[in-house]
Formats: sequence, structure tokens, C-alpha cells
Amino acid sequence: MNKSVFDPQSQIDNSDFKIVASLERLSECFRALLWEKAKVLGVSPIQIQILIFIHFHSGEKCKVGYLAQEFLLTKATVSEAVKLLEQKGFIERQTEKTDRRSHTLHLTEAGKGAVVQIADFANPMLASLAKIPFTEKGVLLEQLLSIVGQLQEVGIISIQRMCFACRFYQRNEMDHFCHFIDKPLKNSELRLDCAEFEARYG
Ligand code: SF4
Repeated sequence: MNKSVFDPQSQIDNSDFKIVASLERLSECFRALLWEKAKVLGVSPIQIQILIFIHFHSGEKCKVGYLAQEFLLTKATVSEAVKLLEQKGFIERQTEKTDRRSHTLHLTEAGKGAVVQIADFANPMLASLAKIPFTEKGVLLEQLLSIVGQLQEVGIISIQRMCFACRFYQRNEMDHFCHFIDKPLKNSELRLDCAEFEARYG
């Protein structure tokens, strides 16, 4: 059997194992916080994620197909979640003028009200960063984005709207550079979800 990152004995001398196991703990924390809000609103965690995503992203991303890619789910699963959100009166579909078979999803007034209640669900995790100095946080952000980028490259996660996957991004010797805003970026200015992102490939 291959070694497991969850085996405490294997972890002892292996920082890679401990880092991956730590990330798993953080994802548990994320899930627990999501469930807390889900119970308050009477919706499922994925329904919460869809509502928040629609609130913060432009119309061309608010389609069933895009959401399925974003959350690594099948279109059927997302369609079901969307149908339930429509039944609850939180979202509505609008037919696109240019293609009547295509629909974008929008929040209703009730949906906007729901987002006000739930969008901060991950904020309790912010307190854990309070004691890390600003420059160290920049390094941490760069490392985390690098991990996300690697996972995207090997196809474990879908395309991320982040600097390292963006056609406007260039790595200089000491710095990062964005050709869209035509400025160098400090580590702390790297973006994970950028509205101006354009994929480097394809
Ligand atoms: S456009 Fe956005 S994602 Fe692309 S390099 Fe610039 S800041 Fe980064």
C-alpha cells in the first residue's frame, strides 16, 4: 500500500505529508462553517456556494455549465441545485437575447437578502491570520497560489482565474508583472479570482 498523508507515523519526518494533511484540516473547517450557515438558511452547502458565486461574478459566468466546472460537479447536480434555488425564490433564469437556448442566472431580491446572511461564512478563519506579519502573508499567498496552479496544471481542479494561469501574467526575476494593468505585482497583490483574467491557453 502507498504511504498515506494521514498516517501520523509517516507524517513525522515528512513535511509534505503534514502540509497536505493541514490543508485537509482547513477544508474540514471550511465545510463545517458552510454547514452552519446552510442550516440557518435551510439550503445545502452547494446552494450557498452558488448564491455567493452569482452575487460576485458577471453574467457570462453565471450559467449551469460554468458553475459545474467551477465546483467540479456534473451539470445534472448543478441543475438540480439551481432548480431548488428557483423554487425557494432565490434565483431566476434569464434567456440570452443572442441565444434563446442559453440562460444566465440572477439573484432575486430574496436571493440578495440571503447572500447578505451567508456571504461571510468563512470569515471566522480570518482571525487565524491576524498574527502573521504582512510580508509573510504575501509569501504564504504566493505559495498557496502556486499549489493551486500546479493542481490546475495536472487537471485536479478546473481553470482558476488567477495570475499564474493568466495570459497577462509574467514572472520577472524578482517580481510578478501584470500586462493588463501594466504594473509589477507584489506577492500580496497576486489575485486568485480576477475579473480581468484571460486564460493563457485555449
Ligand atoms: S489580469 Fe488579473 S489575473 Fe491576469 S495577471 Fe493581471 S491581475 Fe493577474
